[in-house]
Amino acid sequence: FGFKGCQKIRGPQIRNLLEAKDFFLFDCDGVIWHGEKAITGAAKVVNSLIRNGKNVVFVTNNCTRPRENYMHKFSRLGFHEVMLEQIFSSSYCSALYLRDVVKVRGQVFVIGCEGLRRELQEAGIPCVEEADEPDATIYNCALAPDVKAVLVGHDDKLTFLKLAKASCYLRDPDCLFLATDNDPWHPLSSGRILPGSGSLTAAIEVASGRKATVIGKPSRFMFECISSQFSGVDPAQCLMVGDRLETDMLFGSNCGLDTMLTLTGVSQIEEAHEYSKSEVSTNHSLVPDYVVDTIADFLPAFED
Ligand code: PLP
Ligand code: CA
Repeated sequence: FGFKGCQKIRGPQIRNLLEAKDFFLFDCDGVIWHGEKAITGAAKVVNSLIRNGKNVVFVTNNCTRPRENYMHKFSRLGFHEVMLEQIFSSSYCSALYLRDVVKVRGQVFVIGCEGLRRELQEAGIPCVEEADEPDATIYNCALAPDVKAVLVGHDDKLTFLKLAKASCYLRDPDCLFLATDNDPWHPLSSGRILPGSGSLTAAIEVASGRKATVIGKPSRFMFECISSQFSGVDPAQCLMVGDRLETDMLFGSNCGLDTMLTLTGVSQIEEAHEYSKSEVSTNHSLVPDYVVDTIADFLPAFED
């Protein structure tokens, strides 16, 4: 009980686990797809779980799309049973946090992609509109007077001016500092990497001397969003499936869920072993309970 096992499971053990749990939380990138390509067998697994009456939700730190957009992606990649209500992204949960938890009054200064802004607009959160002024610098630009939060997420059009403005707004101690997620980087199929939201947040943390509140995994808030939208979610009945120890496994541990690492993504099993041997006891929260090569290993459990 409570033992962190890193237990590689297969066949009948997977079947027993799937029967025992009634709520499945899946990370997206590295678990059910790689960018625009579904992981072989993943759609069949997800559709089968849903048809078997299991609750399934998706918990992604990717803040670049609104939920609507994910719906289309799921359906495009063959996940035909997935509905909007099952998708929890760090952008959607950031909007809920601003609207329902801090009940922000005034505007939010956003560093992020268009998709993040759209999700905030959907929730009725006013965002500072960036004027298109090619000659603007931090010496001559206007700052909005009523900014009550800075929200930082992945931004592929980041500029020095945006970093500077965010740092200025955060001089006001009443201005909240939020990050959609704290992911350091993401793998690309080419072998290159993409710096994640965490790298941008770190820059602003240094410039402002403040620490951001993280909304996405490993923070518990996304699980609170799920619990508030599905009745009777019992952590003991949940399985969190992910590919990254520092976000997904820690998220599961933080929320009291059993955790499963799938080896189709970022983290390797050796890293999990290292964390389990670590003398730093907090590192044990990053060790998965179970390990599979791929979630396609679930498929035999649905046969006969
Ligand atoms: N954020 C961005 C910008 C990404 O590109 C990715 C993965 O590709 C993620 C976050 C991580 O998403 P997930 O939590 O689904 O692994
Ligand atoms: Ca992932």
